[in-house]
Amino acid sequence: ALNPDYRGRFAPSPTGLLHAGSLTTAVGSYLEARCRGGQWLLRMEDLDPPREMPGAAANILRTLEAFGFEWDGEVVYQSQRHPLYRAALDQLITQGDAYGCACTRKEISEHGRRGVDGMVYPGTCRHGVATGRSPRAWRLAVPETELSFDDRLQGHYVQQLQRDIGDFVLLRADGFWAYQLAVVVDDIAQGINDIVRGADLLVSTPRQLWLRQCLAGPAVTHCHLPLMVNAAGEKLSKQTLAPAISPQAAAGELRLALQRLGHLPPAERQSLPELWQWALANWSLARVPAGPVTIA
Ligand code: GLU
Repeated sequence: ALNPDYRGRFAPSPTGLLHAGSLTTAVGSYLEARCRGGQWLLRMEDLDPPREMPGAAANILRTLEAFGFEWDGEVVYQSQRHPLYRAALDQLITQGDAYGCACTRKEISEHGRRGVDGMVYPGTCRHGVATGRSPRAWRLAVPETELSFDDRLQGHYVQQLQRDIGDFVLLRADGFWAYQLAVVVDDIAQGINDIVRGADLLVSTPRQLWLRQCLAGPAVTHCHLPLMVNAAGEKLSKQTLAPAISPQAAAGELRLALQRLGHLPPAERQSLPELWQWALANWSLARVPAGPVTIA
């Protein structure tokens, strides 16, 4: 049945082509949205030009099309939404939640300590930058309290943001918007209320929940799909040389993606439409493994 209240999304970064890991995430978020009669939006996270691969955004869209994904509305490009991010940062500064930071990477690595996702910023500029220095980046002040949420697949997850992460960057010293800010601003603006994505982003979720609260965004639920790793246990990515998905082999790739998500289509389901039809009729989060899935 149609459920206009469910809004999910897939948000690839065009830093490389779709690979087995990102395709599997797309399949999981798509099936979850469609099986609940909801909307599925597509957002291109082209925020970081130095890391982007020319042609990747268009290639990702063509590949998704070849697989038969159908998204709702126009594709949203983060590169065209800078004014939205600016407005959010201005609001956070006005509220006293965000502050300018003059520290260099070197200073942070000298004075900070290791947290759960890189260095914990020591808070040097929290109450203003030293005289004679000017802000290079903008950070969000995080609370000392514990922040937790219940992931629909990974279960209860807790972080103490100040201890584990530290005040994190919203606008980078090189002038680019940070992923953490853009993703929250866009999820709020697009009315996303269920986020289904890869488990590598679990560690970012408490930051995003705090930021969402600062921006007075509505509640959202999360489901982090299992991480896809190679034989060496490394997350599949451009850096670990994960091969790009070939749209010519779409039916076979879709079957593999479903298997990785704990769904085994019968052998006689061979074509893309037959596989999608089976998947839509049989999808259940209860079958999806939480832990890492190794891809040969
Ligand atoms: N663009 C991010 C990535 O490709 C995903 C963002 C998200 O789903 O929140 O890793």
